[in-house]
Amino acid sequence: MTATVFDGGAVARSIWNDVALRAQSFAVASGSPPTLAVVRAGDDPASVAYLRQIDRAFTARGIEVRLESLPDAPDESALAARLAALGDDSSVHGVLVQLPLPPPLNLALVSDLTTDHAGAKDVEGISATHTGLLCQGRPAIVPSTPLAGLELLRAGGTPLAGRHAVVVGRSAILGRPLAQLLLQADATVTVCHSQTRDLARFTRQADILVAAAGRPALISGDMVKPGATIIDFGINEVDGRLVGDVDFEAVREVAGAISPVPGGTGPVTTAVLARNLLDLAERHFPETTTRPTM
Ligand code: NDP
Repeated sequence: MTATVFDGGAVARSIWNDVALRAQSFAVASGSPPTLAVVRAGDDPASVAYLRQIDRAFTARGIEVRLESLPDAPDESALAARLAALGDDSSVHGVLVQLPLPPPLNLALVSDLTTDHAGAKDVEGISATHTGLLCQGRPAIVPSTPLAGLELLRAGGTPLAGRHAVVVGRSAILGRPLAQLLLQADATVTVCHSQTRDLARFTRQADILVAAAGRPALISGDMVKPGATIIDFGINEVDGRLVGDVDFEAVREVAGAISPVPGGTGPVTTAVLARNLLDLAERHFPETTTRPTM
């Protein structure tokens, strides 16, 4: 068997088409474009590249991106003050804190400060509020990366209800929220992590296997059930090449469908982030949209 390969670019294009129309209606109704503020510090190359990609893609669809650079060696109070200012700024509709930030700033702190100061603009759904809503199975802003995985599965027509989904990875921004999304879609979900004993015993049972560990070639062909659907989030550089967590060539001979790296979840993630921003912006101007607000 040779697996169908998911086309992340095509899925992203269809989301972008919708986003561009919504951005245009929003700008006409409100008199200003939907606007994302990105708070960042440091010079992590991957995050600089991601930011450049966001800026280009958003601007092309009529969304303004404002860069908010924190001073060198920012501390908690600097981040809190910046988030509070953005929370009060009515021209900003979504706030993204670009991770990683230099220590001592970490995801838990960013989540807490976002909850306290800019909760209504939490475009990546990292605040305790959105995390809690998601865990309760209620409508929430969901982090863009796991939501992109679900979009790929839906676009590929993968049945989820009653299927066994195995998620390898339990980070707060990826593995955990994706497990919640799959649960909401009525899958039976197993979450594996670095302390899981005999990982292959679980992955071989998966109808849907999600690799979100950041370990190249973690998932080999003999760890996959024939016909399974594989979503690979891994971004790893090996010998100057970008690879996922799945041994793509071996696994595509066993699986029924597989997402490639690059070209799988990555492009969909940026488009979903823009859609999250429109969801937030339209809450301020509900008359700009025909879709129900959350
Ligand atoms: P983290 O490092 O925060 O989490 C990795 C998770 O994988 C942890 O839960 C860890 O377990 C688990 N893990 C690590 N090694 C193993 C192993 N050998 N067996 C089983 N589980 C293991 O990473 P992220 O969640 O932030 O990212 C995961 C990957 O996704 C990375 O490659 C990242 O670059 C990529 N990514 C892709 C995005 C996209 O748009 N496609 C966006 C964001 C990230 P434990 O909890 O026990 O430590």
